Amino acid sequence: MNSLVPPLMMPEMMPDMDTARPTPSEAEAAVRTLIRFAGDDPSREGLADTPARVVRAYAEWFGGYQLDPIALLSRTFGESGGYDEPVELRNIPVHSVCEHHMAPIQGLAHVAYIPTDRVVGISKLARVVDACARRLQIQERLTDDIASAIDKALKPRGVAVVIEADHACMTSRGVSAAGTRMVTRRMLGLFGADAALRREFLSSLTLTSER
Ligand SMILES: [Zn+2]
Repeated sequence: MNSLVPPLMMPEMMPDMDTARPTPSEAEAAVRTLIRFAGDDPSREGLADTPARVVRAYAEWFGGYQLDPIALLSRTFGESGGYDEPVELRNIPVHSVCEHHMAPIQGLAHVAYIPTDRVVGISKLARVVDACARRLQIQERLTDDIASAIDKALKPRGVAVVIEADHACMTSRGVSAAGTRMVTRRMLGLFGADAALRREFLSSLTLTSER
């Protein structure tokens, strides 16, 4: 599977994209074009400031491109008292954008790792989810990106990532399958090798789709 997944794009890997990056006013012009394409008038009062707002919102929605998820995990703590059981962080909000339709993907991530000898600040796991999510993504690659970043940065004995998410491109159009959730998972190290450990982690999660 991994060989088919393109590597996570880091800021330093995109030198050409940086020079080719449109200016904010070019991006605003593109938003005005889309408003006209939708059938509305970008000059009417309610829409006058919309292009500038959309461009500012893009900085947040796509802020992940400015972040290196592995670097976010560089500060670790050795005084973990020999703790070598799984560390789990559940219900991390996921805000991403589907790369096929540029529609929102909203959901929750559940992350666990088994430390080798060092642990990471728990909020950092949530930041890694955010850094990987705030890009154009598909849920399968997002799941893998998060697991790989934790694996590379912490070299833990195991990593488990489960994501459950709604895809607006599906729930708001086409078959309009409101309420459908996609669930993906990536299990590395002991979580992949040890079926009992994996079962324990998965059964500890009450997926919201099953609530
Ligand atoms: Zn889509």
